[in-house]
Amino acid sequence: MVAHNKTIAGKTLREWRDFSPVIGDICALRETAWINPGKLPFAEAAQSCPLTMADIEDAAARLNRFASYIKLAFPETAGAGGIIESDMVRIPVMQRSLEQDEGVPLRGQLWLKKDSHLPISGSIKARGGIYEVLKTTEDIALQNGCLRPGDDYSVFASDDFRALFSRYSIAVGSTGNLGLSIGIMGAKLGFRVTVHMSADARQWKKDLLRSKGVRVIEYKSDYSTAVAEGRKQAESDPFCHFVDDENSQTLFLGYTVAALRLKRQLTEQRIAVDAEHPLFVYLPCGVGGGPGGVAFGLKQVFGDHAHCFFAEPTHAPCMLLGMASGENNRVCVQDFGVDNRTAADGLAVGRASAFVGGLLRPFLSGCYSLSDERMYKMLARLADTEGIYLEPSALAGMYGPFLMEKSAAFRGYIARFGLDAQMPHATHLVWATGGNMVPRAEMEKYYSRGRELANRAVE
Ligand SMILES: *Cc1c(COP(=O)(O)O)cnc(C)c1O
Repeated sequence: MVAHNKTIAGKTLREWRDFSPVIGDICALRETAWINPGKLPFAEAAQSCPLTMADIEDAAARLNRFASYIKLAFPETAGAGGIIESDMVRIPVMQRSLEQDEGVPLRGQLWLKKDSHLPISGSIKARGGIYEVLKTTEDIALQNGCLRPGDDYSVFASDDFRALFSRYSIAVGSTGNLGLSIGIMGAKLGFRVTVHMSADARQWKKDLLRSKGVRVIEYKSDYSTAVAEGRKQAESDPFCHFVDDENSQTLFLGYTVAALRLKRQLTEQRIAVDAEHPLFVYLPCGVGGGPGGVAFGLKQVFGDHAHCFFAEPTHAPCMLLGMASGENNRVCVQDFGVDNRTAADGLAVGRASAFVGGLLRPFLSGCYSLSDERMYKMLARLADTEGIYLEPSALAGMYGPFLMEKSAAFRGYIARFGLDAQMPHATHLVWATGGNMVPRAEMEKYYSRGRELANRAVE
């Protein structure tokens, strides 16, 4: 409980609740939906933004340069030419099933972006995390005069390069999946890697990393502490690169490349995105880098025709809180008596990234929160209807399309932008952020929990 006379960023709890009813919902752990009053038309938002399409293209080009190495080091990517990318698939059976549950038809088509099945590390972190390791690696090779423009990057697999990188280390703080991506990629290249894991991190992720020679340091506290400790320890070592999940522009740009790839996939699927065919995208959000990067990229590619929403657990709605209060990272969920304890371990973050919160402010359409129970139930439902298995965090986006039909706030958004007539041609893309690496026994537990909760609801 928060004492009622205590002030948080200059306001008492009561004053905050009067300021925004969504904050009252957050404190009460109620599911809630919020439309961003700070969103601007794309052309205007882009004007004052320090990052541009050129930055995204630079990142995409770097990933292309590394493709010959990735193909060699991770043969499972050979079919895709060393490009780490996921499929987008239609999920019509899930759509009908949820329509029945929710008692409303969903206008438009429901699609899933399967970052859950990205090669190498099975989560959205295989975008940003791996990109930052590769960028660091390229910088070191260039500084040491081992690489010239135009070289074939398969040399990164050579013993000489591994010997060079073994003189350097990489560190990161994580709730699990970022550590997995950085650890797997860093160790493969020859770096000494240290992962600072928050209390939320699953045991199997720590075990897997240790089996690859990664040093895992465990914390009893949450994500923010693990990151702060990691940052502090890395600071004193000039040969250590710290992947800063709260502030890294490099990490962010790695995620943005998804938008260029998605554009091509939409074209292949003959899905138009224009004034008549809006694209709604629902992204699970932890600290904000992953969903922020993807959303930023999508806005650069599709402008006003892309509508991006962030999804968070009711127990860890840090971006929603930062945005709705206008205080960004100056407040955390714990300030408001919210405990940051959730089964959605990838989203267990109490304080959002200042960098992402600020950058996304004029681009983002809205945020919502949902209960862990709902994520579990949708996890089991997706498995039953489509045979696709995700981790709990990755289901957070699945509720968004139905909020477009059910929530007064989101319906207001559709009305305000005059989108009602276009909704039957809308594409709803749920970003599935993780799950493929989850061990079978663990996944069975998630699934049973979802079935159990669904049965309980029926009784
Ligand atoms: C990390 C993660 C997210 C959110 O990414 P952030 O950059 O922390 O916002 C979503 N889902 C899963 C499964 C993740 O691991």
